[in-house]
Amino acid sequence: MPYRELDFNLSKETIAMHKEVQNFAITVMRPAGIELDKLHNPEDVYAKESPLWDVFKGYRELDLHMARMPKELGGLAEDLDPMAGYLIGEEMGYGDSGLAISLGASGMPFSFAAMFQHVPELKQIAHDYIEDKEGRMIGCWAITEPDHGGDWSLGGEDPKCGPSVTGVLKGDEYIVNGEKAAWVSNGTIATHAVLHVGLDPSKGMAGQGLAIIPLDLPGITRGKPLDKMGQRALNQGSVVFQDAKIPKQYMVFDASAAEIMVGMGEVILAGANGGMAVVFAGLARAAFDEAFKYSQERIQGGVPIFEHKNIKLKLFKMFTMVEAARANARRMALYNNAHQEMPSGVHAVAAKCLSTETATFVASEAMQIFGGNGLAREYTIEKMFRDARASMIEDGVNETLSLQAVEFLV
Ligand SMILES: Cc1cc2nc3c(=O)[nH]c(=O)nc-3n(C[C@H](O)[C@H](O)[C@H](O)COP(=O)(O)OP(=O)(O)OC[C@H]3O[C@@H](n4cnc5c(N)ncnc54)[C@H](O)[C@@H]3O)c2cc1C
Repeated sequence: MPYRELDFNLSKETIAMHKEVQNFAITVMRPAGIELDKLHNPEDVYAKESPLWDVFKGYRELDLHMARMPKELGGLAEDLDPMAGYLIGEEMGYGDSGLAISLGASGMPFSFAAMFQHVPELKQIAHDYIEDKEGRMIGCWAITEPDHGGDWSLGGEDPKCGPSVTGVLKGDEYIVNGEKAAWVSNGTIATHAVLHVGLDPSKGMAGQGLAIIPLDLPGITRGKPLDKMGQRALNQGSVVFQDAKIPKQYMVFDASAAEIMVGMGEVILAGANGGMAVVFAGLARAAFDEAFKYSQERIQGGVPIFEHKNIKLKLFKMFTMVEAARANARRMALYNNAHQEMPSGVHAVAAKCLSTETATFVASEAMQIFGGNGLAREYTIEKMFRDARASMIEDGVNETLSLQAVEFLV
């Protein structure tokens, strides 16, 4: 359905970029996501001939990977209208949410590397990523562990809840051991990672450090790709450390920086959840559009089902919720973009919960409108429902995130 754009003062450049990304989302991401979703073996998602690589290449060719990279390294961050930044995320979620998350996570270590460009190795990594139009450099965010999920939000200083992946400084290197969970997005294909690692076990999660690392260092291996219900186009897999030697300069926050790391925790929380809010507002809109279109095509009672009042009421409620999620995500994204060093974590978590719960509700109601066809794999709504459902657990279960974020209100 053509949407009336309520932000009516967009610049010509932003409108042009929006159209370009919309086209990429619909003509490249949507069909690739549908094809990847149907693959039985998750290893095939990232096989050499997989359409995944067309998505990565297309994204880089449009320079979208440069959107968050600073101008001084050749990126576009300062020149890009913040509204364009929001629209890119929403349209990618509209195209395929799993692939949108894969592309979003793929840039994370590099935008972090740009923040620490006083370290020459990290400056080089950030620069190489900007130059990479092929999609050779791919990032991931390695935080969750097999035994620690919600603990990353709520573990605090309790040593029982501290990280299992630990690092010990020996000379100029950290010796790192342990395993990051199979949930790490891009875990099977990433070349670089943002790694959360326990450096002071006596302080639980408060004793963590943060490293930006290449994943080809000796002692780092990968697990099997995860086989899951939704967002199957998003490859996920564990990252295993066995006496891996991480050069000291990659540890951007060490044990002595615990207090700064607390502040950084909110920046990461706001970034990850803010991105989720924008992408899943896009999926909510996509699910609404599928239902709206179907309601005008399907004839029952001798008329398109749109003519039945129960369907009209459902659609209008869905529309209202989609617009609320989009407006909220947009407002949060613009604020946090303008306050990158002190973003609002609480608004990002609120927007993540609203968008993911809206996407799940709207996709479920859309299935109801599709009747039996809503359950058939032939129709995209069934996939959208599975993709949306995963989002309420992704990057933190909504309940644990809420328990963490509510403390920011005190
Ligand atoms: C699609 C997807 C993508 C993901 N991408 C990444 C990624 O890129 N990188 C990464 O590192 N991880 C990633 N994750 C992992 C994700 O962040 C975790 O799954 C999430 O944090 C929950 O952890 P868990 O699965 O271990 O659940 P658990 O922490 O075991 O939670 C189980 C249940 O217990 C509840 N619970 C847990 N702790 C508490 C508590 N203290 N108090 C009250 N209730 C509690 C939770 O609300 C939940 O209902 C991804 C997950 C998904 C689904």
